[in-house]
Amino acid sequence: MPAFCAFCKKAMAAPPRLRGATDLHGQHCSRCGALCIADPTGKQGGEAMMTALRLMACGDESRALALREAVDYDVRTLAWIPSTNEVDAAADATRYGVSRLWFFLLRNVR
Ligand SMILES: [Zn+2]
Repeated sequence: MPAFCAFCKKAMAAPPRLRGATDLHGQHCSRCGALCIADPTGKQGGEAMMTALRLMACGDESRALALREAVDYDVRTLAWIPSTNEVDAAADATRYGVSRLWFFLLRNVR
């Protein structure tokens, strides 16, 4: 099925390259504001996480490091097929090496 937001299910185009010093691609959901970051190799979870935290903290490094999962924000992942921008419902998005989309949503902006 075509890629969608893991929080509100809105359909999403393939994410463009993020601005700044990163090769990651990502975008905000136009409906719920969740931040989507693409991890086409399934091996960049750490980088995706740090980039997301910095973006959610508007570049404030100390605030970024203080954000706590399940307290300040929630994380969801979907297995993803980059070539077609489809969600792969049959794949396990938690397995290392599985292409995925990461979604981050701050709780205080809901
Ligand atoms: Zn959304």
